[in-house]
Amino acid sequence: MSVSTANLGFPRIGDNRELKKGLENFWQKKIPESELNVIGYKIKLNNWFLQKELGINYIPSNDFTFYDHILDMAILLGAVPKKFLVIENPLDRYFAMARGFQNNEKKIDIVALEMTKWFDTNYHYIVPELEEFQIFKLNASKILHDFLDAKSLGITTRPVIVGPFSFLLLAKFADSKIEKSTLTLLDSLLPIYEQLLIALAQIGVEWVQIDEPCLCYDADPTKMKYFEKAYQKLNSLKLKPKLMLTTYFASVEKHIDLFSQLNFDGIHLDLIRAENQLEQALTKISPNTTLSLGLIDGRNIWKGNLNHAYSLLNYTVSKRNSNNVIIAPSCSLLHSPINLNYEEKLKSDIKKLLAFSVQKLEEINLLKRVFLTKNLVLLKENIEILANRNYANLNSQKINNENNFKLSEQFLKRKSPHAIRSEIQKIKLRLPNYPTSTIGSFPQTEQVRKMRANWRNGSISNENYSQFMQREIQQCISKQDEIGLDVFVHGEFERNDMVEFFAENLDGFAFTMNGWVQSFGSRCVKPPIIYGDVARKSALTVEWTTYAQSITNKPIKGMLTGPVTILQWSFCREDQPKKETCLQIALAIREEILELEKLGIKIIQVDEPAIREGLPLQKENWGNYLDWAVQAFKLATSGVKDETQIHTHMCYSSFGEILPAIIALDADVISIEMSRSQLELFSDFTKISYPNEIGPGVYDIHSPRIPSKDEIVSLLKKASLIFPKNKIWVNPDCGLKTRSWNEVEPALKNMVSAAKELRCNDT
Ligand code: GLN
Ligand code: ZN
Repeated sequence: MSVSTANLGFPRIGDNRELKKGLENFWQKKIPESELNVIGYKIKLNNWFLQKELGINYIPSNDFTFYDHILDMAILLGAVPKKFLVIENPLDRYFAMARGFQNNEKKIDIVALEMTKWFDTNYHYIVPELEEFQIFKLNASKILHDFLDAKSLGITTRPVIVGPFSFLLLAKFADSKIEKSTLTLLDSLLPIYEQLLIALAQIGVEWVQIDEPCLCYDADPTKMKYFEKAYQKLNSLKLKPKLMLTTYFASVEKHIDLFSQLNFDGIHLDLIRAENQLEQALTKISPNTTLSLGLIDGRNIWKGNLNHAYSLLNYTVSKRNSNNVIIAPSCSLLHSPINLNYEEKLKSDIKKLLAFSVQKLEEINLLKRVFLTKNLVLLKENIEILANRNYANLNSQKINNENNFKLSEQFLKRKSPHAIRSEIQKIKLRLPNYPTSTIGSFPQTEQVRKMRANWRNGSISNENYSQFMQREIQQCISKQDEIGLDVFVHGEFERNDMVEFFAENLDGFAFTMNGWVQSFGSRCVKPPIIYGDVARKSALTVEWTTYAQSITNKPIKGMLTGPVTILQWSFCREDQPKKETCLQIALAIREEILELEKLGIKIIQVDEPAIREGLPLQKENWGNYLDWAVQAFKLATSGVKDETQIHTHMCYSSFGEILPAIIALDADVISIEMSRSQLELFSDFTKISYPNEIGPGVYDIHSPRIPSKDEIVSLLKKASLIFPKNKIWVNPDCGLKTRSWNEVEPALKNMVSAAKELRCNDT
């Protein structure tokens, strides 16, 4: 009796972010393609050997990618939009699809494919673009080579692909006017999957991991017909590898009958997110089908509960043939950092609670060993650590439980309704119609980054750092003066991202040195770890905001990250509901806001770009999430006087579905990204009218293009058909930190002129 172990995908950034560095050097033409290939090959090779050493039986291949695995699938299936075909070199074309392509001499300017969030994670994938009558064509060289490369090293892998159902659902039609579902292309797509499976079988692939993550959404019978059709076809192929249907992020319980009818060779279930589905699976799925149990959480950094995992494993084996049982992580380890062993600075009482990708695979291997030897002593250490885990006690400053009383209505509501507040604010702020402002950050120069790093590693004094920051703020203020904006910001030079800076000044957070997780392509993030109760240790932004206000008569808009976004972009403790943690963060932000107000700041923006991303995948859970997310925002922002104006900002997600919750935030002003999803959002807002003030983004900050005054005027005119003119603000789509001053200055000047023109027109 034996069980096997599997991994569903290993992080592809490399131990020391070799991929990031390689890509950036390649894009800057500092290294040739051949060198980038060597870097990629080394990462793959390391990953394969490492997983072998860790005792993993089913090691994935084709999980490595130079940019994104969905983009790789588009290439594999020949779904390359025509506009990219002018680029001859395949690798250049590949990166052009991901990042766009400009060549001034040849007058080529191609925009990149759209990028969007991968389910409820902070990973972003590239959205394949399909034509109405798309012709697909197999281009399997990468997946075949990967398998053969590993094989030549003595490692037999299980290649990973995304199945046809999810591929089509994750893609979109290039022409947004086409209203039918992309699933209607299934008939032309299936033959390519058949050819692929045959080609894989021919080189000796025994198993393929076929991911169908879209099964995690609410079941839609019309869509499921396509799923059924696809796998009736693929499972009945004569020559093919065995298919491990891989699901994750939610329960697929409602489909289990269908799975068993379709005769899959294997099925993987995420038992971390949805343990309950195991029972159904054990009753309905034939004992001849291999069952892969997602027992170790691929989405977090905490040690697994091995005792519990072991009991699920034993229970499963008691019901079926153990040779058909696999121990696996819940999903690909893409979402977890690589190796905890590098974290030399982490306090040992926190470190002992953690497991990164490597440690998670060790846990999987340990479960197998315990199963084989029945030696339960092997679990003792894990059981003891978890039993003694007391998150709150790790934190010196235990938050007062009585904070709960603050959740009473009076702490969640502004004193007067927006209509009254806005009158008071008008008198206090004396802003013109179509007030102009920005979202917070201004270009971050190399020097700013260097000074921040120097200050962090102690090579410049607090005083010097402070002086430097003040000079940056001064310059930023005088530029805003010159440009003629109405509401100023300090520029956010002190922060590297939206969360770490805040987390460092809050209790209850720990930080890693190398805990990088891929966000997209070469971009990685290092989410902080919330291990204890969160409380405000000291002021967060007060020093910089009040300094900025002291040197100008224009109102400075204070700039904070909201509680939901801080929570969403951290690894969160698991011993209490997320809601509790979020409210603790909210309370800390509330204190900061009240202090800013006391010190004379009249406008405060609380950014919540991640509020949409936290939305549960299945609709039945939306209500609960939105309730506490809105509560947290209101707890943070509702303590101020009527005259203090609260702004919020959101971007790059489809907000239509959660508009009622956005309205419930009751921010006085919301700025929202529009240029990338113009039509969509406008139509959302015509369906539900937004009651407070709103700044539709009129400058696409992701593009080096400088919008002309006329362009901005016409966008604003469009906006004024939907929103009352006296409620429209004029601002860019998002922060300007990634742009350069020579782009930002003319663009903002055009924006200001556009606002002026509209003011004239209106009088
Ligand atoms: N205030 C932030 C900035 O301007 C907002 C960033 C964001 O929305 N992601 O950079
Ligand atoms: Zn934004």
